[in-house]
Amino acid sequence: RLVLSDSADKNAFLWLQLFGTASRTAHLRFLAAALALVPSPLDLCCVWAQDLGFFHPFYLRPRFGTSFNCPGVCSGKIQTVDGLRQQRFGELGEHTGMAFAVSDELLGTFVPIAVYWLYSGLYIVMDRMEIDDYRLHPKGEDEVKNVVSKWTVVKGVLVQQGFQIAVSLLLFTIIGDDSGTVRKQPPALVIALQFIIAMFVMDTWQYFMHRYMHINKFLYKHIHSKHHTLVVPYAFGALYNHPLEGLILDTIGGALSFLVAGMTPRTSIFFFSFATIKTVDDHCGLWLPGNILHMLFSNNSAYHDIHHQLYGNKYNFSQPFFVMWDKILGTYMPYTLEERKGGGLEARPVNLGLAAQSKSD
Ligand SMILES: [Zn+2]
Ligand SMILES: [Zn+2]
Repeated sequence: RLVLSDSADKNAFLWLQLFGTASRTAHLRFLAAALALVPSPLDLCCVWAQDLGFFHPFYLRPRFGTSFNCPGVCSGKIQTVDGLRQQRFGELGEHTGMAFAVSDELLGTFVPIAVYWLYSGLYIVMDRMEIDDYRLHPKGEDEVKNVVSKWTVVKGVLVQQGFQIAVSLLLFTIIGDDSGTVRKQPPALVIALQFIIAMFVMDTWQYFMHRYMHINKFLYKHIHSKHHTLVVPYAFGALYNHPLEGLILDTIGGALSFLVAGMTPRTSIFFFSFATIKTVDDHCGLWLPGNILHMLFSNNSAYHDIHHQLYGNKYNFSQPFFVMWDKILGTYMPYTLEERKGGGLEARPVNLGLAAQSKSD
């Protein structure tokens, strides 16, 4: 016996179902609350199979979808609410056990945010350890040179991520395919190629947008300067941006990479998580031995640290993966990593004249 909405306001009914039954598990209630933020063009399909006593995997679909394969542990085909109204319970009878899953689109939105805080958390823990030899700025310099407090940054990032959630869910609804089937993953080689294409697209988009935000005085003053209040970057400050910057650089940049590369929503979970890790790492303010990202990419925490300094403000715009656009367009500032007097490391420009000139501009 399925409990289904037959009122016009099926969403409201389904929310009642979610909240009414979710009380048995706190995490479901939390997720339901998070999903309640989903903008209205989305249709939430959720089936509470009372006799089985579990939540059927619920799945976010565009309003006019027809049917799709269940992305969860069951193999059955389920339909959107309209279709389900006519369906008999028997067709779902094969579903057993605790079934609970969210769509890849939702995971692609929420996993990178979880990754952001987990990876930054790792750096917060490390910050308390004996790592002064590997700091790009002396310990405590952030408190002196950064004009915003860490708590302000945490709040700023959370607001930023709230926007990101709303916009990406909206984008996924608009660009999501209506066929109703979960797309099959292509061969590993194709996925690798899609990753590389997406990295190039994201870098290209971000380079030109980022550089323009420095050239255009209005945009710099009102939007991008917020990110540059962190003269001494730290991991969880990576996404401390004006919401409009987050929208233009990260969300639209991410959507473009996703579309041009033609990756599946499932691949995008990994791609966006990787891009998040890379961005957080570029702001970590450390040069730890054995950091594999530093070995693989010349665009790294030292490279981006130059950009956060007053003298490097017009250089090293490239982010988050490669340095090619800076090299091609002459905005690359060569630097060396040297030991700082009093301990730790320092990314120092090779051409001091260039740095001095840039500082006085
Ligand atoms: Zn900048
Ligand atoms: Zn930055």
